[in-house]
Amino acid sequence: MPSPPENSRSIVPPARVGFIGLGQMGQPMARNLARAGYGIVAHDVNRDALRRVCEATGAEALASLKSIGEHCEAVITMLPDGNAVRTVVLGRGAAGDCLLAGFSPGSVLIDMSSSSPLGTRTLGAQLAERGVAMIDAPVSGGVRKAADATLSIMAGGDAGIIARCRPILEAMGKQIFLTGSLGSGHAMKAINNYVSAAGLVAAAEGVLAAQRFGLDPGNVVDILNASTGMNNSTLNKFHRFILSRAFDSGFSLDLMVKDLKTALEVARSTASPARLAEACLEAWTEAQAALGPGVDHTAVVRHWEKLSGTELRKKPIDSAS
Ligand code: NAD
Repeated sequence: MPSPPENSRSIVPPARVGFIGLGQMGQPMARNLARAGYGIVAHDVNRDALRRVCEATGAEALASLKSIGEHCEAVITMLPDGNAVRTVVLGRGAAGDCLLAGFSPGSVLIDMSSSSPLGTRTLGAQLAERGVAMIDAPVSGGVRKAADATLSIMAGGDAGIIARCRPILEAMGKQIFLTGSLGSGHAMKAINNYVSAAGLVAAAEGVLAAQRFGLDPGNVVDILNASTGMNNSTLNKFHRFILSRAFDSGFSLDLMVKDLKTALEVARSTASPARLAEACLEAWTEAQAALGPGVDHTAVVRHWEKLSGTELRKKPIDSAS
């Protein structure tokens, strides 16, 4: 049987894979790719993050984005947003260093960031003109699931290209969903985060009101978790990051606000009603302005606490019964 053309074969270890963006999520994801046997070619503007990943995984660091594009059939981006992805892929000006300068026909860009789906479609079309493929494959599950390689991955784009990249995705995730055409993974991710953000503030308002009514917030969360008001935030965030006052889930409030804006962009571009999404974005943006940059998204509750003049505190064990 004739062998399949080079650019339709799955990309399997020990292939070299470029990994750009080694933050909270990128670091553990790159580590899992290295564990699966891929050769990692890493890059981040933060030199410390780059050094940590190179030391932990044996990843190489090349001198330029162009050389990463030249040496890797597939390059993953795990950057804050689609604008950062665009800069890395196309460069800032005509002479800027960029992946596209090194890509050849058959190269694949896998954007795993939570980017805007409309920008993704535009970027994909620009790459296609040069024979370069693109899929969007954003993730859900946070830092814990990134570390365990159990992320949910929402993959949009040509099914044949996704199949070619599947072994790479499987090294980082447990469930890989095909969402449709290019950009549909990014649309899905934004919608997921809108529903998640709305669930967090709904629970925050409810738990605060219950405490002000005299209930113990730890007890309230336990009851929600055994009842129909349960959601991902009550199950996985309230005890661990909020009532503990740790506020360190590893996903920033700034990124959540970005995702809410993207979700509204999806709603508006499809003329869909988005009353709650509008209110949600307004509330999270207000919290962002009040709390300042760089805080964890679970700290959004502190803004609600301020508005109500009440801090969420579990009752001491002996008085909680
Ligand atoms: P992060 O801010 O921790 O990491 C982003 C990294 O990108 C940083 O190390 C930064 O130095 C680097 N970077 C920024 N611009 C760059 C550029 N032009 N060139 C090279 N490197 C650059 O963010 P994160 O929490 O790892 O999130 C990454 C993406 O994944 C975001 O789109 C986010 O919305 C999404 N996401 C995050 C989580 C989470 O729990 N943290 C979960 C799912 C999805």
